[in-house]
Amino acid sequence: MTNCIVKNPATGAVLAEIPIDSVEAIKVKIAEGAEAFKSWKKTSAHERAALLMAWSALIKKNRQQLGELITAENGKPIKEALGEVDYAVSYIDWYAEEAKRMYGRTIPAHVPNKRIIVTREAIGLVGAITPWNFPAAMMTRKAAPALAAGCTFIVKPAEETPLTTIRLIELAHEAGFPTAVVQSILADGPTVGEIFTSSPEVRKITFTGSTPVGKWLMERSAQSVKHMTMELGGHAPIIIAEDADLDLAVEQTVIAKFRNAGQTCVSPNRLLVHANIADTFVEKLTKRVDLLRVGNGMDNHNEVGPIINKKGFDKIVNQLNDAVEKGAKVVIGNEFDFDEGADYYFVQPTILTDVTADMKMMQEETFGPVIPIVTFTSIDEAIDVANNTPYGLAAYFFTESYKMGNYIAEGLHFGILGWNDGAPSGAHVPFGGMKESGIGREGGSEGIEPYLETKYLSMTI
Ligand code: ADP
Repeated sequence: MTNCIVKNPATGAVLAEIPIDSVEAIKVKIAEGAEAFKSWKKTSAHERAALLMAWSALIKKNRQQLGELITAENGKPIKEALGEVDYAVSYIDWYAEEAKRMYGRTIPAHVPNKRIIVTREAIGLVGAITPWNFPAAMMTRKAAPALAAGCTFIVKPAEETPLTTIRLIELAHEAGFPTAVVQSILADGPTVGEIFTSSPEVRKITFTGSTPVGKWLMERSAQSVKHMTMELGGHAPIIIAEDADLDLAVEQTVIAKFRNAGQTCVSPNRLLVHANIADTFVEKLTKRVDLLRVGNGMDNHNEVGPIINKKGFDKIVNQLNDAVEKGAKVVIGNEFDFDEGADYYFVQPTILTDVTADMKMMQEETFGPVIPIVTFTSIDEAIDVANNTPYGLAAYFFTESYKMGNYIAEGLHFGILGWNDGAPSGAHVPFGGMKESGIGREGGSEGIEPYLETKYLSMTI
C-alpha cells in the first residue's frame, strides 16, 4: 500500500488519497525530531507557552473548517465536531499555562556544606499514536503537554482520520513551531509501532487505542525502557440507583452513550438499573432515544452519525445477534442502514433488556449506539457487576443520596467517575484508566508529568 485512502464514513465517498511515509522517511523524521530536541529543550517555558497560544488562536480562527474536516472523515455530527475543536483547543490553552508551572524544589541537606536542587526536564522525543474517534482532541491532548514540557513530538494519526491531524500540524507550523519540533507521519499502525518501539531516539510513547495494541507496544518498549502513557479500552457501567432522578439519568445517559454514535472509550457499555424503577426508567429512556435522528453528520439535524467502517459495524451486529440469540429483548433499534458497495454503515440507537452476563456485549467494548440493560436489587451487587471487568476507565452512577453516592464512588475501580454526570471530561481534569484501561493520566496538572523527568543535583559548596 503506497497511498492512504481517506473516506467519508457517511457516504463512502473518497475524500483524499495521501502518500504513505516510507520506513526511511519515518526514520528521517525521528532523527530530525531527536536533533531538534537539543535546541527546543533550551527554550524558555514562556516562549513555548507563547507558541502554544499562537497555535490555539489559529485553531480558533479555523474552527469551522476543522469541524467540517472532522465530520467529513470521522462522521460525527457537525455540532459535536465543532465541540471537539473547542475541546481540543482547551488542552492547548491549559498546557500553555501549565508550561510555566513545571516547578522543582530544594531539599534541606543532611550536612551544612551541601545544597540539593530538584528540577524537572523534558523527556525527549515523544512518539504519539492516536485513534480515529477524536482526531483533533486525542492529538492535542498529547501534543500540548509534550510541547509545553519541552519535548519534541511526532504523531501517527489513525489511517481513517489523518486529515485533521495534518491540518493541525500545518497550523502549528504557521504559529511558529519549528518544523522538526512537531511532525506527523502517515503509515500503518504495526509499521510505526515497530519503528517507534525499536528506536532509541523515541524516549516516550503515548498511545490511545485498543488494549491489545497497547500491550504489544508495552512489551516491545521494554527493550529500551521507554516511558509510556496508555489510554486503552473501556467497558463503562452506568448504575441507576433506586432514588435516582430519572429524567436527569435519561438525559445524561443519552449524552454519554450516543456521542460519536457510541464510539468513545468512555461510552457506557452496560446499564445497571434498580429493579424497582427499571420499567419506568426504560420507558422514559426509550421515548428519548426514539427522538434521536440518525444520518449524515453534515446535516445539522442529525444527532447520531455513521459507524466508522465495516469492521466496527460487523462487531456491533455480531454482539447484537449474540445477545438476541441468548434471549435479550429489543426495546428499540437493532435496525441498520448500510451499503457494503458504497461502504457506509449506520446503526439505529438500540436498547436491549433481559441482558445476561454471558452475552458478548457484557464482556467486550461495543463501540456503537447500543444500551444493554440489566437489573439489580442491592447496590453491592451493582458495584460487583460494574467492577467485574478487566477494564477500569469510566463509570457513571445516578443517585440523589449523598451517602449512597459516596459509597458507590469508593466501591468502583475506575479512573473517571460521573455522579449524576454523563460528561466528566475536560482539559483541567485527569483522564485515564485503571487496570487494563491504561497507565498514566492526560489532562489536568497530572497530564504534563508523563513528559517530564526528575533531575536531582547535589552540590558541595
Ligand atoms: P481501533 O481498532 O479502534 O482502530 P487500534 O488500537 O487498532 O484501535 O488503533 C488505534 C491506533 O493505533 C491507530 O492509529 C492505529 O493505526 C494504531 N495501531 C494499530 N496497530 C498498531 C500497532 N501494532 N502498533 C502501533 N500502532 C498501531
